[in-house]
Amino acid sequence: MSRIVYVNGEYVPEQEAKVSVFDRGFLMADAVYEVTSVLDGKLVDFDGHAKRLQRSMDALDMASPVTMDELLAIHRELITRNDLEEGGVYLQVTRGAPPDRDFAFPDPEQVPSGLVLFTFAKKLAQSAAAEKGIKVISIEDQRWGRRDIKTVQLLYPSMGKMMAKAAGADDAWMVEDGAVTEGTSNNAYIVKGNTIITRALSNDILAGITRAALLRFANEAQMKVEERNFTIDEAKSADEAFISSATTFVHPVVEVDGVQIGTGKPGSVAQRLREIYIEESRKAAV
Ligand code: PLP
Repeated sequence: MSRIVYVNGEYVPEQEAKVSVFDRGFLMADAVYEVTSVLDGKLVDFDGHAKRLQRSMDALDMASPVTMDELLAIHRELITRNDLEEGGVYLQVTRGAPPDRDFAFPDPEQVPSGLVLFTFAKKLAQSAAAEKGIKVISIEDQRWGRRDIKTVQLLYPSMGKMMAKAAGADDAWMVEDGAVTEGTSNNAYIVKGNTIITRALSNDILAGITRAALLRFANEAQMKVEERNFTIDEAKSADEAFISSATTFVHPVVEVDGVQIGTGKPGSVAQRLREIYIEESRKAAV
């Protein structure tokens, strides 16, 4: 069965999906995106993703192509049409396709925003990375200064992923002015004693929807959370480390720049948070 994707108002087989060569997402990375995970055929934290999407569009003065209710209906329709049980929905809003390439934004009255969504199947609740943990390397953060906006400018994070691969690791943690910002496509945490430490929100990092849920669950479970900068040296001597994102939930980090973290096995805080996250997400999914 061919995957059905959504492109600018139509549901079509993926082979038939087309976007214009003048689309600003394609020409200028003038587009924002969201990835919402799917468990048991339902969306995890759709509201959180919809709100962040709105925030990204507002920050870039980009018009929304549909209402958030319509967006939810499109997500659900795609899940049904593709018979998706577990995985995710990728969504991208672009500033549309003006008649020609131009640095100035087109008038949204004349050039409507573009909208593309597709589903992907992926095992999320069961994962080898969650059981074994992952290895990360540190790299310099060379991204632009508005990392709080979820744009499709993902070249440097892709390069970071390749640097990690070349070093025999799974991912890279980016470092700016001596402190870890985040992973290539996830938020970064360390655990010292009973305290979970993660960088505070600012323009420097993406406000992870998974991060927000995890910090809420950690507080409810009386775990201590400190939102502050931490260094790679601090990570190397931490008891545990982990990452979070919509498609990984929580993955323990067992090695940083070749140095084993804690026992070298996934830590109990990361494992516990992952369990709570999956349990609560299944309950609240829509
Ligand atoms: N940080 C970056 C740079 C990301 O790309 C992502 C997800 O793609 C995250 C953090 C985690 O965000 P979320 O939990 O909403 O998936």
